Amino acid sequence: MPTVQYTKSMPVIAEPDVLVCGTGLAGIGAAVAAARNGASVLAVDRMGFAGGFFTNIIGSAFDGFVFEDTGKPVVGGLVFEMLERMGVVEPGQAPHLSYNVNGDFTEVEKHPERVIPRTDPELFKKAADDILIESGARPLFHTQVSDVIVKNDRVETVIVSNKDGLVAVKPRAVIDATGDADVAAWAGCPYEKAESLQPMSLHFRIAFVELTFELRRKCASVLEKARAEGKIGLYGGPWPATFSGRDIYFNVIRTPGDATNPNDWTNAEIQGRRDAWTMFELWKEALPEFKDAYFFTSGPTSGARESRRIVGDYTLTGDDIRQAKRQDDVVVLGAWRIDRHPEREAGYHDQPVVPPYDISYRTLLPQGVENLWVAGRCHSATSEALASSRVTANSMGMGQAAGTAAALAAPTGKGSREVSITELQDRLLAANVILDPASAMDR
Ligand SMILES: Cc1cc2nc3c(=O)[nH]c(=O)nc-3n(C[C@H](O)[C@H](O)[C@H](O)COP(=O)(O)OP(=O)(O)OC[C@H]3O[C@@H](n4cnc5c(N)ncnc54)[C@H](O)[C@@H]3O)c2cc1C
Repeated sequence: MPTVQYTKSMPVIAEPDVLVCGTGLAGIGAAVAAARNGASVLAVDRMGFAGGFFTNIIGSAFDGFVFEDTGKPVVGGLVFEMLERMGVVEPGQAPHLSYNVNGDFTEVEKHPERVIPRTDPELFKKAADDILIESGARPLFHTQVSDVIVKNDRVETVIVSNKDGLVAVKPRAVIDATGDADVAAWAGCPYEKAESLQPMSLHFRIAFVELTFELRRKCASVLEKARAEGKIGLYGGPWPATFSGRDIYFNVIRTPGDATNPNDWTNAEIQGRRDAWTMFELWKEALPEFKDAYFFTSGPTSGARESRRIVGDYTLTGDDIRQAKRQDDVVVLGAWRIDRHPEREAGYHDQPVVPPYDISYRTLLPQGVENLWVAGRCHSATSEALASSRVTANSMGMGQAAGTAAALAAPTGKGSREVSITELQDRLLAANVILDPASAMDR
């Protein structure tokens, strides 16, 4: 590929204690925790709202938040607060309730008495704005992290691009919450990417249809038949859910691809829209329940479940999860199933249920750089383990841990490996984070 050389002086627009790159679940957790622990925080995101794929795909659930055998929370901290801010639970009630793992209809059928931690993306956006602003963090949207300058094993400058052009940020500490480990990769830290990545998905929402258990089964049958007849290609699930009772949001599109490859991501958007319309038309033709159905919205973007994973000081494995291996430096618990969407198969896949397990602080530490933390779905885990730890609640918990640690380190210029684990864990416990799985084991 030909190259060009380009030299430019650019203004330094901010010198925060902590720069948070990406305001997905991990980034919100990081920004709020760092600000509440006394740091000045700038949090940038390429989108116009926070939430990452929780909001970019118009809907998600707080998976990984509870141990599904008991319905008891395993994460806590800022996840409790977001559920309260969105009105899913009453203020102060979050730690004391039993929850469904999510709003999937089969789960609701099994445990109708449990609270559903499902959340409306618009409520989430509003709650995310509020929690960021109230914490004192400064969000800067429509700002893409574009490059990194590393000096003496520290990220010295992060170059971002927005309507000001290319501008620089000089932070004391940086949290990479881009989901794709953009900062760590561009800083030269080692990372891995599975040969067969979990597929990307464009979610969409159909209005004026009432979701029932029976309709879920019918939607699945229509897709099975259409695939057998060669009318459609890959699809996942389907996993339909509803926010209003008069609409269905579908998690069903399955597009193989790598979100760090711009061509793949473009294809995921175009193929995803095509598939969504084809499915909608098939259901409308076959199912009387779709008589008044209206294709309401998709996106705003197709989402990636898995891309780069850093190789950190410790790598979480599938065996760690199955054996619930305890870690002295635990900073958040996980409990979501090993939910690895297959790239090239259609329909439902196995999702082995796991016990609550520890996520180590060292999985947030990329090798070779001292003032950088990586939180969320690009932390250090094998592809198998990430199929569990990638989900929303755990990402927010990792972000909360990284933000708290960065705030402890930044004022004195300490490195990520010099943070006292006891002090970090004490601060997390004081912020209602759960670090002991025992409370989730009681029915
Ligand atoms: C289709 C799909 C369905 C899912 N369903 C569920 C579900 O039902 N329940 C569940 O719990 N989880 C679900 N997940 C997983 C979950 O959404 C994510 O894994 C989790 O939210 C990860 O959060 P994160 O903050 O680490 O990353 P992300 O959500 O990827 O957030 C990264 C943020 O960084 C920003 N960003 C990225 N690169 C840059 C850059 N260079 N410059 C500036 N900003 C940047 C992005 O805009 C985004 O806001 C799903 C994921 C997908 C893709």
